[in-house]
Amino acid sequence: MKLILLGPPGAGKGTQAKRLEDNRGYVQLSTGDMLRAAVAAGTDVGLVAKDIMARGELVPDEIVVSIISERIDLPDCKDGFILDGFPRNVRQAEALDAVLEEKGLSLDAVIELSVDDGILISRVENRASESQGSVRDDDNAEALKTRLGVYHEQTAPLITYYKNRGILRTVDGMAHVDDVSRSVEEALGPV
Ligand code: ADP
Repeated sequence: MKLILLGPPGAGKGTQAKRLEDNRGYVQLSTGDMLRAAVAAGTDVGLVAKDIMARGELVPDEIVVSIISERIDLPDCKDGFILDGFPRNVRQAEALDAVLEEKGLSLDAVIELSVDDGILISRVENRASESQGSVRDDDNAEALKTRLGVYHEQTAPLITYYKNRGILRTVDGMAHVDDVSRSVEEALGPV
């Protein structure tokens, strides 16, 4: 199964993607994790992405689209993958459509984790205060404000984009994490 997990920063996409990976064997493809790895390794992509990410803005579409396109070709993706943090705007969604079509693949479902802004802000503040040692460069009040603004302006329109395709399923992301997992499993149906 090929899935997208859609939702604002701090919605729990990473947590749910990991659980799906464990339960169903689909691979989690997090563009945020891949970009942070590129920054840590000091690659050309990392050098471009570092300051953009720290501010909470979007890295150029061409970069993330080519990262995902290449990653999907690796053999571990053949039994299914979960896109976490991609696409993040309509241009990326259109590029994804083209990439998948070219590879003879198609999306099975888009799961939206719905969470109110007030809850997101306190979750990210807790994540920053609980993480020992390395705090993410973008887990501060200013960058979070930007990330939420970017989400509402650029990413939220994808809800309609995928609703119109008939593949959107919305899950209450404010429930207990185990209940969210149950709802995600229900939305996807049996393995
Ligand atoms: P969160 O969902 O908490 O914002 P992510 O790890 O998904 O965290 O993303 C962190 C940052 O990485 C984003 O704010 C952005 O700068 C960059 N990024 C991740 N995915 C994309 C993408 N698809 N397009 C552009 N930038 C991205």
